[in-house]
Amino acid sequence: MKITDIDFEEERALIRVDFNVPLNDKLEVTDDTRIRRSLPTINYILANGGAVVLMSHLGRPKNGPEDQFSLRHLVGPLADILNRDVQFAENCIGEEAFRLSSNLLSGDVLLLENLRFYKEEEKGDESFAEKLAKHGDIYVNDAFGTAHRAHASTATIANFFEKDKRCFGKLMAAELENAQKVIKNSEAPFTAIIGGAKVSTKIDIIKNMLDRADNILIGGGMAYTFFKAMGGNVGNSLVEDDKLETAKEVLEATKTCKANVILPIDSLAADRFSNDAEQKSVPSDDIPAGWMGLDIGAKAIREFSEIIKNSKTILWNGPMGVFEMDNFKIGTEDIAHAIAEATANGAFSLVGGGDSVAAINQLGYDDKVSYVSTGGGAMLEYFEGKTLPGVAALED
Ligand code: AMP
Repeated sequence: MKITDIDFEEERALIRVDFNVPLNDKLEVTDDTRIRRSLPTINYILANGGAVVLMSHLGRPKNGPEDQFSLRHLVGPLADILNRDVQFAENCIGEEAFRLSSNLLSGDVLLLENLRFYKEEEKGDESFAEKLAKHGDIYVNDAFGTAHRAHASTATIANFFEKDKRCFGKLMAAELENAQKVIKNSEAPFTAIIGGAKVSTKIDIIKNMLDRADNILIGGGMAYTFFKAMGGNVGNSLVEDDKLETAKEVLEATKTCKANVILPIDSLAADRFSNDAEQKSVPSDDIPAGWMGLDIGAKAIREFSEIIKNSKTILWNGPMGVFEMDNFKIGTEDIAHAIAEATANGAFSLVGGGDSVAAINQLGYDDKVSYVSTGGGAMLEYFEGKTLPGVAALED
């Protein structure tokens, strides 16, 4: 079911949102992006005569309730953003919570306490999910960020609603639609740009792209494990020695796969891991002892940019270097610039995964790409070709 096919008049919508926002020492919300991205769904349901029950996790509580992880701290900011009162249930299940949710009228908003105060949530427990389901007549999943988890509130709960009483929220639907533009309906040439620190976290996405993409551009610290696997000198660059065999296997596969897989031909190397380090340009497979590659080099930037500008579909996950340091952000910045240029010329570009999103925001290119995903781990798993339990649970 699509959200727009459901009648919310006089109904209570139980919405799984991703309100896992950062809080400071004073327990104030320091970045409300995740709350704001759920507004289209919440406002749509309220405008269509429904009442809303919001449920989420926050942080990683270990043993039951802990004030620092209480969703109570979000009541004020949420009320301000929604411009209406927000009721709060101090326990996500239990008599008082059910009393509050059963008394809701059209236009009312109720926020439930942190789901992860119950261990049953992460275990995907049936009876916990069944209790949560009592809060709503309709179940809406808008938490793309946790769609890769088979938790009670993201997956199991869907079984307690009829097919015509459950749907994706607007954010979740947009995430999936955009991800599908890359995976299912991509216009060629399709270029996947994969960077970041470690091969271990990106190897599955590279493997899944080998026969889908036309080009795979590999940057960031992970490139040096590949160079070492080929027998190159990588100095003190980041290397995962236990992934050398895996890197060799992938390099072998690149000989016969569809994609043209390109590593950065040169690197900007530093004599220590610091913004103030001495730096010099070196071939990526010949980094002197004592030096480490912290960014892709000028030749690699040119080569990558050219390919990107000629692409029609672009997926970007992971920075090209240590973009947090001003002196080693150029590769990431220039790649973001090339993606923006390709997008302006009609390409579809999707940026997904924690640090590339941070990089694109920091560098100010977030409004120059087609879509920035909110789901770090979930987006990564989607592009690894895995089934997302939160998505599967709602598919008819
Ligand atoms: P990931 O979370 O795997 O996407 O990795 C992002 C992190 O990788 C960022 O914090 C970058 O600073 C780091 N990174 C990127 N390139 C390098 C590099 N050449 N050496 C060390 N760290 C890097």
